[in-house]
Amino acid sequence: MDFELTKEQRDIAKAAKEFAEGEFTDKAEAFDRDETFDEAIFKKAAELGFVGIFIEEQYGGAGLGTVEQCILQEEFAAVDLGMAVAVLTPCFGSEIIQAFGTEEQKATYLPSLAKGEAIMGSAFTEPDAGSDLAAASTTAVQEGDEFVINGSKIFITNGTRADYLICFVQTDPDNADKHQRHSMIIVETNREGFEANRLRGKLGIRASDTAEISFNNVRVPCSNLVGEPGNGFTEAMYLFNLNRIGVAAQGVGLARAALEESINHVKKRIAFGAPLATYQAVQLKVADMFTWMHAGKNMVYEAAWRIDQGKVDHTLVAAAKAFCGQMAVRCTDIALQLHGGYGFLAEYKVQRLYRDAKIIEIYEGTTDIEKLIVARSLLA
Ligand SMILES: Cc1cc2nc3c(=O)[nH]c(=O)nc-3n(C[C@H](O)[C@H](O)[C@H](O)COP(=O)(O)OP(=O)(O)OC[C@H]3O[C@@H](n4cnc5c(N)ncnc54)[C@H](O)[C@@H]3O)c2cc1C
Repeated sequence: MDFELTKEQRDIAKAAKEFAEGEFTDKAEAFDRDETFDEAIFKKAAELGFVGIFIEEQYGGAGLGTVEQCILQEEFAAVDLGMAVAVLTPCFGSEIIQAFGTEEQKATYLPSLAKGEAIMGSAFTEPDAGSDLAAASTTAVQEGDEFVINGSKIFITNGTRADYLICFVQTDPDNADKHQRHSMIIVETNREGFEANRLRGKLGIRASDTAEISFNNVRVPCSNLVGEPGNGFTEAMYLFNLNRIGVAAQGVGLARAALEESINHVKKRIAFGAPLATYQAVQLKVADMFTWMHAGKNMVYEAAWRIDQGKVDHTLVAAAKAFCGQMAVRCTDIALQLHGGYGFLAEYKVQRLYRDAKIIEIYEGTTDIEKLIVARSLLA
């Protein structure tokens, strides 16, 4: 058993850390406050090869694996999660095109994503269907050689930025098996009848674009269907396994940053005539944070490594996502507490870490849903 990253992986981690510290640090507080982002940072990240690293080389990507993707997620999130999401999600959903798309779809969509020339997103969640994905009711009805799409989606990352979205839509609503009613269809966002509105006032990851979108008789060619008709649920689960582990890696990054901020603070802050770090009650908190962060990290990289070996363990992925979400929330809470009143201020990074951590428990499947996946697998 070898727990060391390869030289290439260590180089990726170092480059990602340097990029995020150089590009994110000075801007993160303002982007969080103003709910904005500078697309030039995304373009620069793409030029340096941080975007779409999992896209195969023949389509312009680096053809790297889930471990490398997790390294980027961890390193970027350790500096700022909102900006990490803005930089790393523009290929969100291209995994489905790569795994299930036709050769023509791959050649059409993947190269511009890998170069950072196009932005996409994945639209699953609806106002009345989140955790219960199979209840999604946006319809795509075939008329000749087109699909006509009607319905709405909510909380869609990159909804107002994207050039196109891969959308989870009902194509066979009467199928007796609710897991065979949906398909994945690409919708270009300049199609007539498509509308997206940015959602403002998020608790955290405020540099990231989150939108509600609607489809009003949006027409797309049938050739925009990705994979087999009725296979949308299976394709969604494929995507979730890959992305959930990336979100868990974000939780590791947040917890690691919370630990680093805490160590710096308690060594310097004097209370009752001595640095906070000299009090055992404080030391126990630091030890807990390290232990939980490291446990989460090991789960993440084992699950990611298994995916890259072609041995996807969806139980371990779900367990890692559930654990890292809770762990990030606990570690950032402790970090803020250790900072006292200063932690309550926006100018201290721990405030942002604390607010950002909660999203790890929500998107790509809530902590409850991940635990239900683990339990179902164990009790089956
Ligand atoms: C910032 C942000 C970005 C997002 N990006 C995207 C995106 O790009 N694309 C996309 O499609 N979606 C996206 N989402 C949506 C996200 O995946 C959903 O919010 C999430 O899956 C939960 O769905 P919901 O909000 O409808 O909550 P609900 O499903 O209504 O759940 C509410 C609560 O009930 C619990 N619950 C539900 N069912 C059960 C059960 N059977 N047993 C026990 N507890 C249960 C849940 O755990 C949760 O705590 C995003 C969300 C946010 C906030």
